[in-house]
Amino acid sequence: MSLAALRDAARACKGCDLYLRGTQTVFGEGTKGARIMFVGEQPGDKEDVDGKPFVGPAGKLLDRALEEAGIERADTYVTNAVKHFKWEPRGKRRIHAKPNGMEIAACRPWFNAELAVVNPEIVVCLGASAAQMLIGKSFKVTQRRGELVDGKALKPAIAATVVATVHPSSILRAQDEESRHREYELFVRDLKIVAEHLHGRRAA
Ligand code: SF4
Repeated sequence: MSLAALRDAARACKGCDLYLRGTQTVFGEGTKGARIMFVGEQPGDKEDVDGKPFVGPAGKLLDRALEEAGIERADTYVTNAVKHFKWEPRGKRRIHAKPNGMEIAACRPWFNAELAVVNPEIVVCLGASAAQMLIGKSFKVTQRRGELVDGKALKPAIAATVVATVHPSSILRAQDEESRHREYELFVRDLKIVAEHLHGRRAA
């Protein structure tokens, strides 16, 4: 099946109750054969409205970090573990709510289908939800970020290599400018590990 056909099919998904809350299904974006697949947790407020992943502030930060790390956007496919925005009202604002295990499991077939079509060499998990879904429940991003994990040894196997780092939205939430800068530099460092591995300068 093509990515376009998958995207069309996912528009009508009622696999879990989140379709009642989000505006639309936010499917992954990028090309078949992209060498790196980035996987976040779920679309945010702007993504929900636009219907595209990583177009909000976190997506802009990701774009900047990719450029700094030397990763071409054309080499990437970006998606989320859960494809509807889960949110709670706070005044007039819609605040991100963490998807639960049932919602993540219900959405997994869409991720599996994207993975099968794109067939990336490296999967990069952005944040704990994606890392725990793909690497394992006990995986701690804080302790193992930037590590090259053998993706073929995972159950189920994913890509040749899996790397986890933080979600760019966590950098935006840092308490002050200094910690935001420090977190951003660490994020770029993790992405440089991915770039070096991709270009054959770092072994798994
Ligand atoms: S979150 Fe995933 S499984 Fe749930 S309705 Fe949306 S696309 Fe379907």
